[in-house]
Amino acid sequence: MSDFLPEARALLGEANVLTVDLAAYATDWRGKFTGVPLAVLRPADTAQVAATVKLCAIHGVAIVPQGGNTGMCGGATPDGSGQQVVLSLSRLNRVRNIDPLNNTMTVEAGCVLQTLQELATEHDRLFPLSLGAEGSCQIGGNIATNAGGVQVLRYGNTRDLVLGLEVVLADGQVLNLLRALRKDNTGYDLKHLFIGSEGTLGIVTAAVLKLFPAPHASAVAFAAFQTPQQALQLLGLMRGALGDRFTAFELMSDASLGLVRQYFPATPALFAETHPWHVLMQATDPGADDGAQVALDTSFQAALEQALETGVIDDVVVATSVAQAEELWAVRENISEAQQHDGHNIKHDIAVPVSSVAAFIEEVQPLLHAAYTGVRPVVYGHLGDGNLHFNVSRPPGWSTPDWQGESDRVNAIVLDVVARLQGSFSAEHGLGQLKKHEMALYKTPLEIEVMRRVKQALDPQGLMNPGKLLPV
Ligand SMILES: Cc1cc2nc3c(=O)[nH]c(=O)nc-3n(C[C@H](O)[C@H](O)[C@H](O)COP(=O)(O)OP(=O)(O)OC[C@H]3O[C@@H](n4cnc5c(N)ncnc54)[C@H](O)[C@@H]3O)c2cc1C
Repeated sequence: MSDFLPEARALLGEANVLTVDLAAYATDWRGKFTGVPLAVLRPADTAQVAATVKLCAIHGVAIVPQGGNTGMCGGATPDGSGQQVVLSLSRLNRVRNIDPLNNTMTVEAGCVLQTLQELATEHDRLFPLSLGAEGSCQIGGNIATNAGGVQVLRYGNTRDLVLGLEVVLADGQVLNLLRALRKDNTGYDLKHLFIGSEGTLGIVTAAVLKLFPAPHASAVAFAAFQTPQQALQLLGLMRGALGDRFTAFELMSDASLGLVRQYFPATPALFAETHPWHVLMQATDPGADDGAQVALDTSFQAALEQALETGVIDDVVVATSVAQAEELWAVRENISEAQQHDGHNIKHDIAVPVSSVAAFIEEVQPLLHAAYTGVRPVVYGHLGDGNLHFNVSRPPGWSTPDWQGESDRVNAIVLDVVARLQGSFSAEHGLGQLKKHEMALYKTPLEIEVMRRVKQALDPQGLMNPGKLLPV
């Protein structure tokens, strides 16, 4: 072990083996987990990642891969032993190829998501993965967490956007699966093992990503109504009217909006009255002529008018400019940060079948109110995918440590309802350190055992992001 750091310096250069000022790498985005890295290693390319992983394998040093460090579950944070290295992928930020005819781009893991979205736009294409952290999260982190975001309704999760992958295995070999094919039934599709594996099976170094026609016409609206059931009626109505052009359907409780108004005072007041629930909706069309925009607006407005006339919604604001559409989106995007300012809350990132979302909310809220007087559920998320961020803020009078101490009880209330509705206790954020314990409660022993066998086969030394994803 004493030779490890000198050998790492010889391999990567002094400047890329950091041992001081590591705070930014040692704590997760939410500030919930802090570790003590032995060092932060910053390889420049796949060959250097492979050589670094080999070196770690020889010295028995555990590796915590880190992208933009925006993950919600402490997956990119080392433990407190001072024996694990953080492997930062930030320097692997090259675009290897863009093929507009094949509608693909081949990019390295450290590319920032927003940069890739912009690159696609430059080629009159869309890379549809879109989430609040897109200015700093990296595509390798998105792939490792199988990130979701706000356009899953139309384009799917990250898993659906990846055609090929390059992965450095735990022994330092490079597994080249960088195929840009839409059809390839040649045995097990190995890339899917690594997508969503949170760095526990290998290091993603590059990927072939799917591109789509760029949307040229767009319609955005913010609607207000009384019950989650009405949100489902609205979803059915809008999808019926717009089909595949309907791309986003984001639910927000009034409590979520209240936090945004409190911490982002410039947020515009959208409605004269308060309403318990809201959704932000978007439809897009690739058609570049005026006719496409007019046709989209006509279908969008007609569906909204029908929703108003039939009492599905109480009120609606339709964006009349790109700037106003951005203003409406900012309301949704600022919820995470507003919650961050508001202090500790017990977070859940759950999924149930879309048809059960209203039942979930209607069942779980009374249970929480019965258990904790004045408790404040802050509910928002990707309703079109059946995925809610159901975060429970502390009741008045509770201290942060006391509320933290209630996590297990609150989790049990929320997640038992999720389980009864055949849902998932982690829809898009993954497990990391935060939610791995729930595996033992909500997955079958056989499912966990099969995962352990995969882990053992690919990482027999247990050096790839140990202590994450799988329960102890
Ligand atoms: C404001 C905000 C909004 C968000 N909204 C969403 C959302 O809508 N949907 C959603 O799904 N997530 C969301 N997230 C969570 C987060 O942005 C995603 O999980 C994102 O995919 C993480 O990317 P990252 O590069 O920051 O990864 P990191 O946080 O650095 O790492 C996440 C995990 O991936 C592993 N990892 C990172 N890079 C690699 C690699 N190259 N190879 C192998 N393993 C790797 C890490 O070890 C860790 O386990 C949000 C976060 C914030 C802060």
